[in-house]
Amino acid sequence: MTKSDITEALRLLYVGGTVLLLAAASFLLLLLPTVQAQDLPPLARLEALGLDTMEVGRVTAYFVPADRARAEELAVLTEEVAAFFEQNLGFTFDLGMAALAPEHWFSDIPGIPYAIPWPSMRDKLIFMPSSLQEGLLIQGPTELEDRRRVDFVLLHEYGHIAAKAYFRPMDDQDYLPVKWFEELLATYFAYAFVHASDSAWAKAAEVAWLGEVGGYTPSVLSLDWSFMNALPGNELARTYGWYQFMLNLRAAEIYDEHGLDFLRTLKEQLPWQDTGDWNTAILLPRLEEIAPGFKAWEESLPSVYGEQAGDH
Ligand SMILES: [Zn+2]
Repeated sequence: MTKSDITEALRLLYVGGTVLLLAAASFLLLLLPTVQAQDLPPLARLEALGLDTMEVGRVTAYFVPADRARAEELAVLTEEVAAFFEQNLGFTFDLGMAALAPEHWFSDIPGIPYAIPWPSMRDKLIFMPSSLQEGLLIQGPTELEDRRRVDFVLLHEYGHIAAKAYFRPMDDQDYLPVKWFEELLATYFAYAFVHASDSAWAKAAEVAWLGEVGGYTPSVLSLDWSFMNALPGNELARTYGWYQFMLNLRAAEIYDEHGLDFLRTLKEQLPWQDTGDWNTAILLPRLEEIAPGFKAWEESLPSVYGEQAGDH
């Protein structure tokens, strides 16, 4: 279990807003036990459920018969994003997508409630809720917004797997040690695809993220996320959520100026052989060279996002 897994889950706990604060608090208690040794790896555990499968391009979908239609939608979306990056960045891989009903739901973090999507990096496998009627991402006010919220998280989880496959396929670490950058990359892949395939969705997402960022101000504004370890559960969930939405907005900003060249240049110019040594202080000047504005962004986090969005 990695810190990235935990924080990812916390981000998704946050999206449900205040009704989730109790859930978030109890979730933190569940972080203390380690993963049970007798647990099977995610893919083996999934296969043991004996679900139906379907191939959509390079995607293998897992589902129960009643969820076939939604599973196919999610598999098609996964295939579309994979095809988009094969066409534009020239890399591809086969992957899995499990669309699970509540009775089959499990996570590699014990106690995760239904419908918080998560990736198995080793298996290139994304676990999604099959239901669009229940779970923490279903907040309304419309079915379209619920669907987009769920689908964006699928694309974000794809982004984690894609970033690993594109930038550092031989690295034995699932996630980068610089957590905000790992999340920025995942969301950059997601946003790039959404922007290219559905501009109305991209615009609506930006509006929603601005509202989320404007609706809360964390007690600490820093790219060094180690401070989060000391926060109480409720504040940690809200703070982590705020940073994720802020990174979504940052990804949109960079994409609007640099498009997919940002990813191409990162691949060429960052020292992907040495990711274990990375930290924010090393990374920021390199990013400043590739996409000028990173230093100013870091220094102006509150004024750029908090105040501007707070006017809404
Ligand atoms: Zn993530």
